[in-house]
Amino acid sequence: MDYRIGQGFDVHALQEGLPMWLGGIRIDSPTGFVAHSDGDVAIHALCDALLGALALGDIGQHFPDSSDEFKGIDSKVLLARVMAMVREQGYELANADITIALQAPKIGARVPEMREALASVLAVPVSAVSVKATTTERLGFVGRGEGCEVWAIALLRRSCLWRPLDDNR
Ligand code: MG
Repeated sequence: MDYRIGQGFDVHALQEGLPMWLGGIRIDSPTGFVAHSDGDVAIHALCDALLGALALGDIGQHFPDSSDEFKGIDSKVLLARVMAMVREQGYELANADITIALQAPKIGARVPEMREALASVLAVPVSAVSVKATTTERLGFVGRGEGCEVWAIALLRRSCLWRPLDDNR
């Protein structure tokens, strides 16, 4: 099989006084994400999309939030590890598309930096990484400013280093 596709979804609650990390960059915000890691909900969704494409489980299985090893960890480290797993299986990222739903602060102007940061960690061209930001028009928990939702999709293509996926993993 030459191509594999995966989707990822994640939600984190917002709390005042926490640092906000999103899409691999620090966002100036009075609120940040409640999490065991740095709470980068966009990276978590992207990790799940990459893992999902190869049926490698999910981020919680690989980096359990019960483990001290991952307490406060920079999610970019997790993303780099996931991308290494993808390459180990003989696949390369064709492209990823991420949609972030956040009411405030407005993050649209920071999207280019997020794409740069994510592409750098993934070691792919910036053109392979799309980030889109939306509000939910003040509807639902996102609209009330209680949290952030992110959807990600990733398409992988078989690389020249491909070997068959291990069905017993
Ligand atoms: Mg998460």
